[in-house]
Amino acid sequence: MKQIQFEYENDSSLRQELNRIDKWRMKNGASCMLFHVFSDTLEVEKVRHVCSLIEFTLPDAVYAGCTTNGNVSNGLLSDAHIIITCTVFEDPSSKVTAIQLPLTDETEPQVSEAIADIVKQHEWVKAIELLVTIRGLSMTKFCEDLSCIKEDVKIFGGGALSNDINNESSFVFSSGADCSEHAAVFILIGGENLSIYTEWVTGWRPLGRRLKITRADHAILNELDNKPAYDTYYKYLNIANDEHFFQHTLEFPFMYKHNEVNLLRAPTACLPDGSLIMSADVEEGVETYMAYGDPWIILENVNGAGERLSDFEPQAIYLFSCAARRAFWGNEGSNRETSPFQDIASTTGFYTSGEFMRTGRDLNLHNVTLAIVGLREGPASGMAHNFRIKDHTLDGQASLVNRLANFVHAATEELEETNRMLELSSITDGLTKLLNRTEIQHRITASNKKHTDTPDQVPAPSLIMLDIDDFKKVNDTFGHREGDNVLRTLSHIMTDECAKADPDISIGRWGGEEFMILIPNTLPYEPQELAEVIRKAFSACVFEVSGSHTISLGVTTGITGEHVDILCGRVDDALYEAKRSGKDRVVIK
Ligand code: GH3
Ligand code: MG
Ligand code: MG
Repeated sequence: MKQIQFEYENDSSLRQELNRIDKWRMKNGASCMLFHVFSDTLEVEKVRHVCSLIEFTLPDAVYAGCTTNGNVSNGLLSDAHIIITCTVFEDPSSKVTAIQLPLTDETEPQVSEAIADIVKQHEWVKAIELLVTIRGLSMTKFCEDLSCIKEDVKIFGGGALSNDINNESSFVFSSGADCSEHAAVFILIGGENLSIYTEWVTGWRPLGRRLKITRADHAILNELDNKPAYDTYYKYLNIANDEHFFQHTLEFPFMYKHNEVNLLRAPTACLPDGSLIMSADVEEGVETYMAYGDPWIILENVNGAGERLSDFEPQAIYLFSCAARRAFWGNEGSNRETSPFQDIASTTGFYTSGEFMRTGRDLNLHNVTLAIVGLREGPASGMAHNFRIKDHTLDGQASLVNRLANFVHAATEELEETNRMLELSSITDGLTKLLNRTEIQHRITASNKKHTDTPDQVPAPSLIMLDIDDFKKVNDTFGHREGDNVLRTLSHIMTDECAKADPDISIGRWGGEEFMILIPNTLPYEPQELAEVIRKAFSACVFEVSGSHTISLGVTTGITGEHVDILCGRVDDALYEAKRSGKDRVVIK
């Protein structure tokens, strides 16, 4: 495999380059060629013209491309508006083909199905590169649908954009299809001796406390913790909603888990109601963190990814880097993380509106991410090049950010732990460590309501109420301390037996030596059987100081539609009945 890169200056220089490739091919032979054409301007005619020259000189070559937020040629952000990269496949079994299909929210299901069918029919396909006009589209469904393609097919790529990040326009194009503002190009790549390596890296880290996305619709993030999403930026970071909003928030995108992968989403604009327009879809109901970008950590992460890629020994590298990364680093700075790739192999790519990358089964649309693809024909030689970001000396500012972020993180963890403890102690009984009366009562009410609201789906709860027999005597004869000991032991027995029966059972201290057990009624046997097990286990227990004791138990099951007080009254009656009829027994009502 060989990769030749050049910039489009004028027609004669382009013809010269194409002729040179043609000659090289005649001499050395090539099974197929894939041209990438990346344009950071929206000049359709110019792009069409470049494509027609490729088609004219090398009619059997496949070409594909899109408009971009910056072109990466030989590992560097190029000054040229249009760059051309030719990947020459030399292995006789290597194959490349490009399919372009119109893509809108309406056509998406058919498009994904068509591609999945094609891949099924073409066993040779090992990877799919995507070039997509993603602005204004909800890509979650598209990614989900393409995830059905068999798992060993790598999927990666980028969203088209233009040099003006705020411009919604972009287009893609490919051999045999014209430029389109609403389309996806699928470049199918494969071959018996072709290996493809993919990896993605962000370098951004979670910061501060967890926030819940309480309202969102596709790419609009309305509310976090029930407050307008923008408030978070203002409250925690003092970022004003002015003309610098995009630049300032870029360093602090949101991070959340989707398909077990940490995705980043950056706000692109703020609406008057405080909702944020995000760089891609976000999910309602999930937890998110703000993330921070620290140059030192980012470069460390890219370095790690580069080292792994170099072990793979690629012969050609494609990079799909987020436009947000270019804005973060600045034009000069962005080369820091892309240029070292050129030391391993010829590196091309572009700055995107979103990065596609399949992880395991799932295809995800990332933002603020660097997607890395390495291609190789034949086996690795075992002589990998070294990958090293040379510009590794960063000023103290960066590590200060890192330390402060650590401080925030540690302090937040401590606070969250304290909150958890407070929450737990507010529902726990001090002596027995069971639930307190308020909490168990609350759970019984909730359980009864859940059944009443959806009787077909949620079974009626059952209650076991129990009370130690002649407990006053224990206190009077052996002292309060022994009484407490008996109470704690009974609590352990209940906890153990209930946990064995069903982890969803709740146990609370109802009063002095009276307890209540709430069974959500998913038990495979009757609740009185559990009551009987507890009764026997407790009476079998011999206390060193006070000997053995007994308990009386009442059992009942809820009736659809009844008030919770009626339910609790009935179990109380059952317990009273057990006491009246001789104690040490279970009575069902
Ligand atoms: P019965 O069989 O009818 O239930 O008789 P009993 O003696 O168990 O019932 P009674 O209600 O007369 O007495 C309950 C006793 O429980 C009275 C009280 O001193 C004791 N008690 C309540 N809470 C605690 C506690 O936290 N620790 C100790 N040691 N005793 C407690
Ligand atoms: Mg008692
Ligand atoms: Mg009592």
